[in-house]
Amino acid sequence: MQSSTDAQSKPVLIVGAGPTGLCLALWLNRLGISFRIIDQASGPGTTSRAIICHARTLEMYQSLGIAEDMISHGSKLQNVTIAQQGQIRGSLKFGNIGTGLSPFPFILSLPQDIHERVLLDHLQRAGVTIERNTTLESLKQHDDGVTARVCGPHSDHEDISASYVAGCDGARSTVRKSCGIKFEGGTYEQKFFVSDVNATGHIPTGDVNIFASGRNFCIAIPLPGEKRYRVLGLVPEGVKDGDLKFSDVQPAVEDNTRLGITAVNWFSTYSVHHRVASQFREHNVFLLGDAAHVHSPVGGQGMNTGLGDAANLAWKLASCLKGTTDPKILDTYHQERAAFATELVNSTDRIFTLVQARSFLGTVARSFMLPYVLPIAFKLPWIPTFAFKKNSQIQISYPQSDLSTGNGAGCRLPWVETGESDNYKSLEDSRWVMHVYGEASDEVATLASESYIPLHRYAWSDHVSKAGLVRDSVYLVRPDGYVGYLGTDPGELGDYLKRWTVPEQK
Ligand SMILES: Cc1cc2nc3c(=O)[nH]c(=O)nc-3n(C[C@H](O)[C@H](O)[C@H](O)COP(=O)(O)OP(=O)(O)OC[C@H]3O[C@@H](n4cnc5c(N)ncnc54)[C@H](O)[C@@H]3O)c2cc1C
Repeated sequence: MQSSTDAQSKPVLIVGAGPTGLCLALWLNRLGISFRIIDQASGPGTTSRAIICHARTLEMYQSLGIAEDMISHGSKLQNVTIAQQGQIRGSLKFGNIGTGLSPFPFILSLPQDIHERVLLDHLQRAGVTIERNTTLESLKQHDDGVTARVCGPHSDHEDISASYVAGCDGARSTVRKSCGIKFEGGTYEQKFFVSDVNATGHIPTGDVNIFASGRNFCIAIPLPGEKRYRVLGLVPEGVKDGDLKFSDVQPAVEDNTRLGITAVNWFSTYSVHHRVASQFREHNVFLLGDAAHVHSPVGGQGMNTGLGDAANLAWKLASCLKGTTDPKILDTYHQERAAFATELVNSTDRIFTLVQARSFLGTVARSFMLPYVLPIAFKLPWIPTFAFKKNSQIQISYPQSDLSTGNGAGCRLPWVETGESDNYKSLEDSRWVMHVYGEASDEVATLASESYIPLHRYAWSDHVSKAGLVRDSVYLVRPDGYVGYLGTDPGELGDYLKRWTVPEQK
């Protein structure tokens, strides 16, 4: 057995190199924190799984300098068609539905395997190596850190010492189990299938095509290449559980989509769970991504939420390790992310329960609401904007957090164009910044300069007002783009700066 005591040189151990672990690694690398990252698998994921990348994720990727690369590998979701009995009943136009709300006013369609490859590529360029075929077996916490027992590629055991462990090891998380953290919730009764197929026949040409009927629903998404589709949906009623094959669901798929399946490249069935960990932090161990929360695929929120967890935790860990803040900042990770995950699980649960139910209400939702009401509602100008705000995660806000001081604090900094650029340009350094829209007082300027925090002044205008910004108020923006302090009182601002941002000269 080898024992490693390199807590000083590698203070963080990331367990799991799925999207959440990879993203945390990119953040820590950017913030100058060294770490080890292990994964039990021999290579990255090869299936598409999450295909939606939301605006808030891209905004955070912009701070990491990888947004454009990510976008170049995907495509903007343009439209979703809804069909029934071979007839198109309606179409939802997406495109730039969030214009004016985000520098990325669209939904990016990007299969998870490609998404992970882009993250890996940037890590590789930064010289980071993923330790593969390396499985976490158990964890022990002590006063000044954590010891993780791992089993390496040659069945060799190692005890890794780290100041902090980040559990990004998915829904069956060993990190979570080792800490005895509860994962309460449930599993939906219905089973789902997902498959990549080749097919003949003509289906609507939406980027996503939903086929709804009273008894079932099925989704077909065209894949790159000739006549290739991802099809997914409810395992039809009457099909026996157990060792399901594509042939068990094929009649329902063909009946719904009117496709003729010629080849099945990949088929899997899965159960959908809705669970949230009771704690996202246990002393020096943190849970992120699916290790902390799992829920239905409604709105494509799962992976994006894990990526948001990584952005939230990384700078807090970094500032603790650098000694530039009150260590109590680490409590705010649970406060902020568990609150959001719980709300998300509840809201996706309500919609999903209805859409998949075999009850009368479920039948009405699939056979009437989805094909007839939704396309009409989506034509009302405020509905697509509402849907964008809700789904893109730009509305995530932490008003109850210990880190939020002042009326309106805790929100994401509202985005606004400023001449040839925008106010997010200043966030690209991933450090605290101060913004004032209107006039900044001399006292505020002095506080900013004494704290080595850049102060950005923007002219007040109707345009700025429409974005929801408050005139002459100080926006003290955290490294993850959320507003920590919002107000006009220099005394209050000074206290906030003393507590959370010990001066760090760059
Ligand atoms: C069919 C399907 C469709 C989906 N669609 C969407 C969607 O449209 N939108 C969306 O946002 N989400 C979607 N999801 C969810 C999304 O795939 C997950 O939320 C995402 O993969 C979670 O990322 P993660 O990094 O937290 O966990 P994972 O991707 O599960 O990664 C965990 C990693 O930890 C490693 N690991 C596990 N245990 C250990 C251990 N003991 N030691 C070392 N390593 C370990 C694993 O090998 C793995 O690489 C979908 C999921 C499925 C299955």
